[in-house]
Amino acid sequence: MSTVLVIEDEKDIADLVSYNLKTSGFRVLSAGDGQKALDIARREHPDLILLDLMLPGMDGTEVCKFLQRDETTRDIPIIMLTAKAEEVDRIVGLELGAEDYITKPFSPRELILRVRAVLRRLSPAAESPAVIRAGDLTIDVSAHRVLVRDWTIDLTATEFKLLATLAGRPGRVFTRDLLLDQVWGYEYPGATRTVDTHVRRLRAKLKACGRHIETVRGVGYRFLEE
Ligand code: CA
Repeated sequence: MSTVLVIEDEKDIADLVSYNLKTSGFRVLSAGDGQKALDIARREHPDLILLDLMLPGMDGTEVCKFLQRDETTRDIPIIMLTAKAEEVDRIVGLELGAEDYITKPFSPRELILRVRAVLRRLSPAAESPAVIRAGDLTIDVSAHRVLVRDWTIDLTATEFKLLATLAGRPGRVFTRDLLLDQVWGYEYPGATRTVDTHVRRLRAKLKACGRHIETVRGVGYRFLEE
């Protein structure tokens, strides 16, 4: 049974989320503020954390930073809960290393699906596969080879790294800044157009398989397996 820590100060939402998680077979821990949440996270090491951004005192982004800095909690995946207007916060959340975000109001069904998806893609069996397949596309990570059906696609080292980064975590939204950091190894403002240019070239080379790289409007890109 997986344990989920719910960090939310609004009792109605916290109760609704807890109830739905429990009826879906999860063990649920809850905290109404950041400090309490950090204590529980360190002590109990939950499998996943649902973190509301708007919290009294220490806000969600602060909590996220503390979780990422602490060796005992850094590997726990985080899904951010955000209000609709907080697009900036959503992006910040993803840059801080959150796996996903859910916009309020959300349906219990959507919440459970997202939680399951994150747990599934981070399970040990799913960790950095040597060969990634999606439809006609095959990415052989160790051999640095990409095939569309039986055709080898000629990619530059950067294009390959970009594709392998996205495809290595299918379903996860990567912001342009996060891609710059992980693929190019640097970040400076204004360089994000570099990412768009490379994605465009990569898609063109992949032909029909380029559709596996989805643009998430206003946020970044993600790789779709289907
Ligand atoms: Ca709140």
